[in-house]
Amino acid sequence: MVLSAAETAAVVRLAHEERVAVTPRGLGTGLAGGSVPVQGGILISTELMNRVLEVDANNLMVRTQPGVRTAHLQQACAEPGLYYPVDPASLDDCSIGGNVATNAGGARAYKYGVTGDYVRGIEAVLADGSIIRYGGKLHKNVTGYDLNKLLIGSEGTLGIITEIIFKLVPKPRYQVDVLVPFNRIEQGVELCLRVIRDSRLMPAVVEFIEQGGIAACNQVLGTCLPFADAAVQVLIELEGNDRQQVLNECVLLGETAMQLGAREPLVADNPTDQERLWTARRSIAKTLKQIYPQVTAEDIVVPLAELPATVELVAGLQQKYGVPIVPFGHIGDGNIHVDICRTISDDADWQRVRSAVVDELVDLVLARGGQITAEHGIGSAKRHLMKRALGPAELDVMRRLKHALDPEGILNPGKVLPEQE
Ligand SMILES: Cc1cc2nc3c(=O)[nH]c(=O)nc-3n(C[C@H](O)[C@H](O)[C@H](O)COP(=O)(O)OP(=O)(O)OC[C@H]3O[C@@H](n4cnc5c(N)ncnc54)[C@H](O)[C@@H]3O)c2cc1C
Repeated sequence: MVLSAAETAAVVRLAHEERVAVTPRGLGTGLAGGSVPVQGGILISTELMNRVLEVDANNLMVRTQPGVRTAHLQQACAEPGLYYPVDPASLDDCSIGGNVATNAGGARAYKYGVTGDYVRGIEAVLADGSIIRYGGKLHKNVTGYDLNKLLIGSEGTLGIITEIIFKLVPKPRYQVDVLVPFNRIEQGVELCLRVIRDSRLMPAVVEFIEQGGIAACNQVLGTCLPFADAAVQVLIELEGNDRQQVLNECVLLGETAMQLGAREPLVADNPTDQERLWTARRSIAKTLKQIYPQVTAEDIVVPLAELPATVELVAGLQQKYGVPIVPFGHIGDGNIHVDICRTISDDADWQRVRSAVVDELVDLVLARGGQITAEHGIGSAKRHLMKRALGPAELDVMRRLKHALDPEGILNPGKVLPEQE
């Protein structure tokens, strides 16, 4: 465990001299195996670099060490009335440095964007042990190549992030969550699309929870989601500084939902009810893992217009292969988590079915202009899919970047880039 950039640099310099692999690790919640040292060597944990260094209300910026938990950073910013809005479902357990390294998203990405949209400055240790600092408390900056963007989402393969400056935004005064149940999944998808395209509303959240996710939450946590028999529930959060305007928007949303055949929505307009809903939403992935012995978590993203066909396709895969396949998540961003749950005891049979589902899913998503991951990253788990997801020219640029910054290949080897023939 390291305590500072200088200490990190000293370890990496030695590893560079000795040609030893170095794997950076935040809090280990990543879903792509990114912080697992698959080729051995040194694991550098930032867990003890856990101080928020400065909340600068004058400049709307926060400066932090990478090991700070995301929820803790949000709380520190909320004290002077500021808002760091990126909220991965794992926010109580993951580190902000891990969020930068994976460019994590969350439920509020529909309105507020993802981690990288807030990064204004980064300090990082490179593979030779040198330390770079780029950016600062600047809302705009185009001085040279954007080294922040190079490191954002690089999954610990280009540098180890030791300090970050994020921009902050003001938090709207009122938030109302509306949970809309439907008997048919396509009705729920259509509501999301109408809200996004036609309603002129700007919700913070447009999420959906299909029956398998609702059942898992209720089974593990007790009945925390109403409408247990709904085929899908759409969770929409409306917000603003004018309470009456937010309530008017809720009415408009309710009317649109009822036109599509929704059942009576649930409106959560106080912290207790909202916390109950959000606890359930954030627990879907965890509860599925408690019910099934193994869950393969896919993280596809498609253009918005492809959502209805994609959701139908996932339902078709479940029928075809006879294993539970639970879609849920950030539908407003075109990003659907597809959790393939193991119900087959024989190892070889399970591997065969799992690979067939993933193969078919990936083919269809790519054919529709989508991609294989929107926020979980490639790590070691999706590396084998990279040659299908990207062309040789793009992969070649990535290899050259990696080679320029890490010629010995010591930083997080076995991640992101596919094996070369
Ligand atoms: C229940 C659950 C819900 C989740 N929900 C979401 C979600 O809503 N949105 C989302 O985006 N993700 C989600 N995730 C995935 C995960 O929480 C994120 O990827 C998170 O950003 C990982 O942070 P971490 O600190 O755990 O990083 P780790 O898992 O430790 O590492 C992740 C990657 O980042 C690299 N890394 C970590 N720290 C550094 C550093 N300081 N410098 C350089 N590289 C570093 C590692 O090498 C690795 O490649 C979820 C995970 C779980 C278990």
